[in-house]
Amino acid sequence: MTISIDSHSGFCFGVTRAIEAAESELTNGPLYCLGDIVHNGQEVKRLEIKGLQTIDYDDLRTLPSHSRVLLRAHGEPPSTYWIAQQRGIEIIDATCPVVKKLQDRIRACYEAHKNDEPQPPQIVIYGKPGHAEVIGLQGQTNNTAIVIESAEQLDRLDFTRPIYLFSQTTKSVEGFNALVEAIKSRLNKVSPLVGEPEGVSASFEYHDTICRNVANRVAELQAFARANDIVIFVGGTKSSNARVLYEKCVEANPNTLFIFSPDELEEKLSTFNFQLSTLKVGICGATSTPLWLMERVSERLSAS
Ligand code: SF4
Repeated sequence: MTISIDSHSGFCFGVTRAIEAAESELTNGPLYCLGDIVHNGQEVKRLEIKGLQTIDYDDLRTLPSHSRVLLRAHGEPPSTYWIAQQRGIEIIDATCPVVKKLQDRIRACYEAHKNDEPQPPQIVIYGKPGHAEVIGLQGQTNNTAIVIESAEQLDRLDFTRPIYLFSQTTKSVEGFNALVEAIKSRLNKVSPLVGEPEGVSASFEYHDTICRNVANRVAELQAFARANDIVIFVGGTKSSNARVLYEKCVEANPNTLFIFSPDELEEKLSTFNFQLSTLKVGICGATSTPLWLMERVSERLSAS
């Protein structure tokens, strides 16, 4: 059996930056992280052993003043900064600069158009409802932004009002483009606005704000998947990026299996009716998958 690890898999720069900030700040005393620092349970556990304590919003409201709280790469809504300020909590802001820039763009759009007459605009986010990054983005619009996951949910929009579309950074480019086309097609079908000449409908602005750290990995990942007989995709069960990239691997090589820990390996492999000793096995992962975890999977496989 030949085993290789995809050299393009593993932490993106935003996650690397947040984890480096946590490790460096841990040397200065107790440190809390608001939510899992990364959507990978194994990496969260590693940092917890080093002293990082994961907290939720309820904990944030009861922490003693001067506590130090790290904000992860996904970013936070303005309300989090406000709570921290009220409680005298020190924020260590590890929001990914790409996410920060997107938050600023959405806030600028909201501020510029919130009082538009006669048609108040709709800010739409193509993303996963309830995802930490999406909560941070919605917060820039005073929680007025509409979050949709696919064209099937377009009935939630009013096609007689202006639409400003943005994307969560880890969504797929194809999904975003399909949504843009579906919105355009619905706009062409609505009645013209009152008082406007026939054929004039609400305005539509769209901004492809997908992070190229994720999007550019797809082609490399699919090439890697095709070059192997079996692909083992290692990712966290809560990671949307892992889900997107895993599906891309399956498209390129249907013999792809998803695991979150080396302990799952034997059971998942038993579903394949192959003689492993003659095969090329590739190991890859998401932007939230640590290299050390993929190496453990490789070691486990070699020993099997
Ligand atoms: S995927 Fe992109 S936007 Fe998200 S944390 Fe990584 S570098 Fe930042």
